[in-house]
Amino acid sequence: MKTIIEPFRIKVVEPIRMTTGAEREQILAEAGFNLFLIRAEDVLIDLLTDSGTGAMSSLQWAGIMRGDELYAGAKSWYVLRDKVREITGFEHVLPTHQGRASERILFELVGGKGKVVPNNSHFDTTRANIEHTGAKAVDLVIEEGRQPTSRYPFKGNMDLTKLEGLIKEVGPQNIPLVMVTVTNNSGGGQPVSLENLRAVRKLCDRYKLPFFLDACRFAENAWFIKQREPGQQDRSVREIVREMFTLADGATISAKKDGLVNIGGLLLLRDAGLVRRADELLILTEGFITYGGLAGRDLEAMAQGFEEVVHEDYLQYRIRSTAYLGEKLLAAGIQIVEPPGGHAIYIDAKHFAPHIPPQRFPGQALVVGLYRHAGIRAAEIGSVMFGQGTPPPMELVRLAIPRRVYTQSHVDYVVEAIIEVFGQRDRLRPLEIVAEPPTLRHFTARFREL
Ligand SMILES: *Cc1c(COP(=O)(O)O)cnc(C)c1O
Repeated sequence: MKTIIEPFRIKVVEPIRMTTGAEREQILAEAGFNLFLIRAEDVLIDLLTDSGTGAMSSLQWAGIMRGDELYAGAKSWYVLRDKVREITGFEHVLPTHQGRASERILFELVGGKGKVVPNNSHFDTTRANIEHTGAKAVDLVIEEGRQPTSRYPFKGNMDLTKLEGLIKEVGPQNIPLVMVTVTNNSGGGQPVSLENLRAVRKLCDRYKLPFFLDACRFAENAWFIKQREPGQQDRSVREIVREMFTLADGATISAKKDGLVNIGGLLLLRDAGLVRRADELLILTEGFITYGGLAGRDLEAMAQGFEEVVHEDYLQYRIRSTAYLGEKLLAAGIQIVEPPGGHAIYIDAKHFAPHIPPQRFPGQALVVGLYRHAGIRAAEIGSVMFGQGTPPPMELVRLAIPRRVYTQSHVDYVVEAIIEVFGQRDRLRPLEIVAEPPTLRHFTARFREL
């Protein structure tokens, strides 16, 4: 059978509301054509991000009621710790309120002036936390990972030649750790192969360097390995996940992605000395080591989320439904970053709106066009987001898919709407910025349509 059904029944519903065209015109004008500045209730289908926007299961909600809210050593902490140990094999588990808190603690300990941290592609908060300590963040994804139409199966892979070149150039003593992001979020949600992770481990061993994972989407990455990597088809996702983590000396995780919760994060470590120092920082800014800035109920929901995310019927549905959206757009002649990634589809806005030059923000014009036409919210990943630094190689619009939230008919609606906007794409309007902050302007900048 061709239809991949949602592997769940719906027990609680949340109404969404369609606005009129006239209302959306007014909303857009009031928000200065920046979709970060509109109210979520004015959005029909929200594809701004997959972070913390997922739906929890009945067992997760049951965990919320079971949550033990005592300060130290609460029962819920041990439930989470044991589940994370079971899935990852890591002995030392530190809870944090979200991924960037784990990053801040880690890089405060190992970063600093003169240090260089390689990664396939740093996520923006990872880069910001590294640079905040005075260290440098370097992206070393393989060449295929920079080409939107390459169908290479593991476009998130680290370029091993470039990695070894960097280690020799700056000296291993200046590299506190090597990081690999799975899946490669900033590179289109593309997976990293097990072979590549093993090779990075080997290279790290040769130069005695710690190897860390940015493991936000570890389960989605493992599913791609099972589907695409020769010799991995007969292994379970659990086994593959276990091997990915076994290769690493540590990991930062935002549980708002593959933790299937709305808030939470983890820092996983092996080195006992590092754990001691990380515990101190955790207590200083997050909370005690058995809750890390979260309520007991959050720990319970996270424990159950990490269990559910490695269920293969869930992953089959998750990855297939993202690909479904991508395939429908490609079939309509709309260029996306190929092949479809795990958590999002990225539309090539230069191809979509060739009449708008990068300095007039084709991605933002498409984001505005999608909301204006159909009440859909997407995110610009192009000159608005990166234009204050080095101009980006691509002008993209990201359609991020919240986990277990929208059904196939929602996705069909999105497809129809995008195809309609594509049919009248010459009506998309160039924009100019009328107000912007000095950094991270995409969150608050205001625009004017030309
Ligand atoms: C979301 C994300 C982070 C940061 O996590 P937050 O929970 O948003 O702080 C870090 N790395 C990657 C790859 C991410 O996708």
